[in-house]
Amino acid sequence: MASIRSQNTKPERVVRSELHNSGYRYRTHVRTLPGSPDIVFTKRRAAVFVHGCFWHLHEGCRSARIPKKRLEYWVPKLERNVERDVRNRVALQNLGWRIHVVWECELQQPGWREKLVSFLGPAKCND
Ligand SMILES: [Zn+2]
Repeated sequence: MASIRSQNTKPERVVRSELHNSGYRYRTHVRTLPGSPDIVFTKRRAAVFVHGCFWHLHEGCRSARIPKKRLEYWVPKLERNVERDVRNRVALQNLGWRIHVVWECELQQPGWREKLVSFLGPAKCND
């Protein structure tokens, strides 16, 4: 399984290429911001995270089930990830950023593009 730190994962590439094809321009993995958001729209002050359901414990998601084996290893590890997500989210919001999360499992269904566009606004603002 890939590490939580891995960049340019497949779900992320799917989201990025969709945005790019729709005319959005953005920066990726901006390390100067809390949590190094995956996709950043500077002028809009909007940050998008593409989260793997397992690593970020997507609530109520089938892909986010903790393995029964080695629970004592996985539970604290995954809970730390979630705590880190919350901390980063709060820090970003305190800096005036809006945040949207695209969950890996959402990419299997229609609707995630529309949600993203309604979060970002139309593509014309060009960043
Ligand atoms: Zn999910």
